[in-house]
Amino acid sequence: MTIKLFNTMSRKIEEVKPLIPGKMGFYSCGPTVYHYAHIGNLRHFIQNDILKRMFMENGYEVTHVMNITDVGHLTSDADSGEDKMEKGAARDNKSVWEIAKFYTEEFLKDFDDLNLIRPTYMPKATEYINEQIDLIEKLEKLGYTYEIEGDGIYYDTGKFPGYGKLTGGSLSGNRAGARVEFNDSKRNPTDFALWKFSPKNEKRQMEWDSPWGIGFPGWHTECCAMSMKLLGNHFDIHTGGEDLSRIHHNNEIAQAEPIVGAPWVSYWMHTSFLVDKSGEKMSKSSGEFMGLDAVRNRGYDTMAYKYLVLLSHFQSQLAFSWAGLESAANGYKNIVKRVAEMLSNQNKGDVDEETYKTWHDKILALVSDNMKTAEALVAVQELLRDNIINDATKLKLFEFIDRLLGLQFIDRAKKLNDLKSEEAPAEIQALALERATAKAEKNWARADELRTQIEAAGWSVIDAKEGAKLVKKA
Ligand SMILES: [Zn+2]
Repeated sequence: MTIKLFNTMSRKIEEVKPLIPGKMGFYSCGPTVYHYAHIGNLRHFIQNDILKRMFMENGYEVTHVMNITDVGHLTSDADSGEDKMEKGAARDNKSVWEIAKFYTEEFLKDFDDLNLIRPTYMPKATEYINEQIDLIEKLEKLGYTYEIEGDGIYYDTGKFPGYGKLTGGSLSGNRAGARVEFNDSKRNPTDFALWKFSPKNEKRQMEWDSPWGIGFPGWHTECCAMSMKLLGNHFDIHTGGEDLSRIHHNNEIAQAEPIVGAPWVSYWMHTSFLVDKSGEKMSKSSGEFMGLDAVRNRGYDTMAYKYLVLLSHFQSQLAFSWAGLESAANGYKNIVKRVAEMLSNQNKGDVDEETYKTWHDKILALVSDNMKTAEALVAVQELLRDNIINDATKLKLFEFIDRLLGLQFIDRAKKLNDLKSEEAPAEIQALALERATAKAEKNWARADELRTQIEAAGWSVIDAKEGAKLVKKA
């Protein structure tokens, strides 16, 4: 099947042609593990997962690398400002190494909870320091670097004629923009640190020896060094959130192409922001920290958040509101209810392979066409409404839909049926379902609270292997 994607580099939708037929090498910029993941960042990982599932469903063997940034990079793009990791460590009163471990684990819990397929490799920046030093040495030999005394080794963007080509003219903002302060010692305002020296007379929690002195790598270096090591000098797709394209990815290209030749990467894909109702990027807005816990604590299934994300296109900003999530949650639950009915139907019929193929190809074609997930979900609704297709065929299609979109419709439908079997009143079943969701999300406090409520209403919840059962108290 033809696969098309919008390529940030060409600013066009292009047909994807892999470097090696049948294989797909893809690199996604991963989390900086100094805090819980924000739901806006999780949107990017959800879209990456759909990309991967789409290639797999098209028969590709996918090698996916996602880095874990566990070395402190600085909070501003100007290589000044505070170190995010050290700041996080001070806030939590832990060492930098401890918070890196803790938030990596928390990130992976969210990752699994959202039913995202784990990457083939998850390299940590701190485990690839030698590779980063090698990369800087190569650039030094080619004449792309210079030293600012007492500060670090910098990349001279004036030496790379294609600098900024990923995002075209928008780099002018780098010069005049208030967000980036100008470091007077740099040769060009867009130059960036490859290696930062540790401050004199001060020991940083994370620092390494290097040919230039003790310090730590600049944050644009790790993705180049790790992707080259794990995917080779050239690979198919590089992804990231839209905030990474202008500086981080232009800088990655400037480091890689002098060494491996152009083009380094065939396709660049960027996920747009999740914004609040005023249109501001959500992770920047004030108020409640919006991790996946905020969604769970309000009693929502995390699949409802994923469903909300997939109702919008990855290139469009998605305005988040609780009302929007509520409506997505209802839409999701309605599909689960229909699947549950099909599962308990005693006269499902036989799978009609021809109909299966027609709908399979129709839905896969939508996602393969620049990831039209919203249109694919419209097709799912049409499938449910079609009264001519029997339940056996529809259920086989839902197995495929779950593989492609990872929305766990069949899993949730089975849980719903298990709860129904005891014929508890609807309101008790609703509490039990909410408790099952809370348990699945390891929200033990909420699960206990719900158990107390169920027991107060005269029912017991019995946790069995096949799911929870409701039993009327004697
Ligand atoms: Zn990166």
